Amino acid sequence: MDLTRTDLYLDGQWVTPAATDTIPVENPSTEQVIGTVPAGTAADVDRAVAAARTAFDSWAATDPADRAAALDRLHGALAARTDEIARTVALELGTPLRVATRVQAGLPLAVLRSYVDLAAEPPASQLVGNSLVVREPVGVVGAITPWNYPLHQVVAKVAPALAAGCTVVLKPSELTPLVAYLLFDAIHEAGLPPGVVNLVTGTGPVVGEAIAAHEDVDMVSFTGSTATGRRISHLAADRIARVALELGGKSANVILDDADLGAAVKTGVGNAFLNSGQTCTAWTRMLVHRSRYDEALALAARAAENYQLGDPFDAATRLGPLVCAAQRGRVRDHIERGLADGARLIAGGPDAKVPERGHFVAPTIFADVDPDGALAQEEIFGPVLVVIPVQDDDHAVSVANNSRYGLAGAVWSGDDNRALAVARRMRTGAVDINGGAFNPLAPFGGYKQSGLGRELGTFGLDEFLQTKAIQR
Ligand code: NAD
Repeated sequence: MDLTRTDLYLDGQWVTPAATDTIPVENPSTEQVIGTVPAGTAADVDRAVAAARTAFDSWAATDPADRAAALDRLHGALAARTDEIARTVALELGTPLRVATRVQAGLPLAVLRSYVDLAAEPPASQLVGNSLVVREPVGVVGAITPWNYPLHQVVAKVAPALAAGCTVVLKPSELTPLVAYLLFDAIHEAGLPPGVVNLVTGTGPVVGEAIAAHEDVDMVSFTGSTATGRRISHLAADRIARVALELGGKSANVILDDADLGAAVKTGVGNAFLNSGQTCTAWTRMLVHRSRYDEALALAARAAENYQLGDPFDAATRLGPLVCAAQRGRVRDHIERGLADGARLIAGGPDAKVPERGHFVAPTIFADVDPDGALAQEEIFGPVLVVIPVQDDDHAVSVANNSRYGLAGAVWSGDDNRALAVARRMRTGAVDINGGAFNPLAPFGGYKQSGLGRELGTFGLDEFLQTKAIQR
């Protein structure tokens, strides 16, 4: 199978890139190359930004109802590709097809639908004394996205940016660029005006930096690692461009002594291993009241045994590979270092059986982990969970907050008020109590080094708006 794409999408057309270099795309389950995409250059970014700049005035002035109608057409064109999206993500990332269909295809469609509705309402203006305060689109947005939810992370930027009246230049991850092509096929079919959304594929250091440093890009919206977020912030700071950053995490799942332990551990393990642990919001630290600790370890080890690794297209598979050989190497290094630091392995580990081909790592759980040590502090981004005993609610809060990250988290308790009190004290952007469902309209983003700004719903739309005061 060859899924090669040769063009970039600039100014409403598929066009030949300025240079001829390409980037191979690998299927991480088979380690076979399934196609190539262009390795874009700064010259391609210049063309894309010029097209977005030219398109901006007219798109910003377009009636909100017409922008909503364009997003609605895009939703229809994308929804028609649901199966192709799920299959493409299963191929280029390795997400099991069932999860890919529900999450990798379903979630971006739900988010796009929410912005069809939100786009129809113009941002509210308000009177403050003798001032009329109005909200206006920021301008040209550079969007740079990672590989772990490769369509969702794109849609979570493109949809609100377009709804706000901004125009966009997108650089998707070079590891999973193919699903972005399906989005741009849908954009073309939906007939969005030329220049409103543009696609430049390529590497971070070349295309990503050219976008982040471009003097005509008014805002950079980035999802990815904290290290790259820091670099992008520096580049944008030189011209005081706005940045929105969705970065890493090391989230705590706090299980109090009165919790439904079976549900808490099962859901917690499932959350930590979703998408092979390549989820920024993953609850990778399970904090359990000392009185239930041994019971929780036994439940967690049993849950890990149920994960069948393998081909994402096999209905029995629950855990796919990691995205690439380098990521697998990084995760294995973390596991080896954890063992060397004295953590107790209760599931998986470096010697556990995995398929011979593909970048697989067995679901791995460590007990007796030092809360200050590397296993509990570093974002591993693989199927690795650490379980830490805690004394009481105060201790649980202090261990949960002992992190440079603050993206997500959970609390489990039979007493809703007690859970809420702990949730309020956690320094993190989101907390789920007793398995509270994901809400695509709720603000999503991080405290501390997990990021700046919020995505999704009205909070996500606000990121792409400026505020003007007009006095009379
Ligand atoms: P990454 O930072 O390596 O890459 C992300 C994107 O940035 C890619 O498109 C890459 O090409 C680009 N990039 C790399 N170097 C760049 C540079 N110097 N200038 C401009 N762009 C550059 O991250 P990744 O490995 O793709 O993704 C994994 C990381 O993303 C994890 O740390 C994870 O926690 C984080 N993440 C965060 C969220 C969130 O919403 N908070 C969501 C998903 C992933």
